[in-house]
Amino acid sequence: MSSVVESKPETDQQNVYFRCIAGCTAKHSIFDVIYTCPSCGSLLEVHHEREPLKRKNAYQWQQLFDSRASTSIWPYGSGVWGLREWVIPSLADENVVSMFEGNTNLFWAERLGKQLGIPDLWIKLCGNSHTGSFKDLGMTVLVSVVKQMMARGSSVQAVACASTGDTSAALAAYAAYAGIPAIIFLPAGKVSTAQLIQPVANGAHVLALDTDFDGCMKIVQEVTKDNSIYLANSMNSLRIEGQKTVGIEIVRQFEWEVPDWIVIPVGNLGNISALHKGFQLMIDLGLINRMPRLVAAQAAKANPFYESFKNGFKEKITMTAQDTLANAIRIGDPVSYDKAVKAIVESDGIVEQATENELAAAAAHADLTGMFTCPHTGVALAVLSKLVKKGVIKSSDKTVVISTAHGLKFTDFKVGYHESTLADVTSEYANPAVHLPANADAVKAEIEKRLKR
Ligand SMILES: *Cc1c(COP(=O)(O)O)cnc(C)c1O
Ligand SMILES: [Zn+2]
Repeated sequence: MSSVVESKPETDQQNVYFRCIAGCTAKHSIFDVIYTCPSCGSLLEVHHEREPLKRKNAYQWQQLFDSRASTSIWPYGSGVWGLREWVIPSLADENVVSMFEGNTNLFWAERLGKQLGIPDLWIKLCGNSHTGSFKDLGMTVLVSVVKQMMARGSSVQAVACASTGDTSAALAAYAAYAGIPAIIFLPAGKVSTAQLIQPVANGAHVLALDTDFDGCMKIVQEVTKDNSIYLANSMNSLRIEGQKTVGIEIVRQFEWEVPDWIVIPVGNLGNISALHKGFQLMIDLGLINRMPRLVAAQAAKANPFYESFKNGFKEKITMTAQDTLANAIRIGDPVSYDKAVKAIVESDGIVEQATENELAAAAAHADLTGMFTCPHTGVALAVLSKLVKKGVIKSSDKTVVISTAHGLKFTDFKVGYHESTLADVTSEYANPAVHLPANADAVKAEIEKRLKR
């Protein structure tokens, strides 16, 4: 095993910087409070100059990353910071805010895969994480950068976001871990206890406003204008740097082999952009020689990206998203649209959709093979099964489904399904508990009936 040392918080700032995705040439420090291009208003991205990274060859990078994976050496035990040189190299050890996120299990879904007709099916369980979703991968990066900014005298005093779910949970947890105040904006009366309780428990300032989600977004943008409060919503491209590690991690877990397909549920389109960015970096540095085909899975009730794909991305479709069980992807005007179009085009990808009934059935079916899927993962699995039926994904293809959150965060969805009370859903796999008298004969008869002996 090669050395895990190689700590080099050298000032790499001229090689890693924010740049405009629309091509404006200015470079901006990632430690500046800046979210969009000052010239044209487009999103920024963190760009890594390739030449300095080519000082190591592909094999040396693989060895280095393999040697760090799942160790307890600070900060490399994190799946994100184990790839430090490819994430934010100029972050000092003491400013890394990490709970050793990432390194989530990628497992062979043998029974489900066989039932769906694709035996080489794998699930990347990103919900096995501190706050129960992949959002932790991005927040460790964003909060670490903020910690370094504050340590070096920036005017930033707090971090803030508008979110009803996984983003606010991740922000609140990482801010609490770092001792940085977090402010969470939520629409009053429109949020479930489960969505509220993580930031509440982590001591965030939870502000419930008399408006809807878009109204909260307007207020948070207003409040973060004066640079003392740092905006953590997904227009902030630092989160992408952490999230891009998931694709690199999948390939590492496959001994540096590229799967044929990756299916991922999408809403604001940050995560699929991140996935693509990680693969592009591996290709540029020679670790792999092809992209997997990426499949963006949308809920039919909130499907602007699907509609845009259908028109060949000629124009960006936006809409008012309808209510869906997959509420973390209930987004009608996705922020990272341009980046995601690039991801689909360059990976020869596909966008497909799933109805409420399809996503609920796919989740329940997967649960019967030992999983406990969130509704978003249900969307991905429903889309997967459609593409297999259409013959687009072939029976011999190696396919990974990104499971984005832990099913335990969505118990209302599970309970509703098995009690057959969900709107637009026929609970064909409902398995409600049966109530019996405390009588051995009645119990034996019931077991007999169920096991059909
Ligand atoms: C945020 C989220 C998504 C969607 O990711 P985007 O980057 O918004 O496309 C999917 N699933 C879950 C569980 C999420 O929290
Ligand atoms: Zn620009």
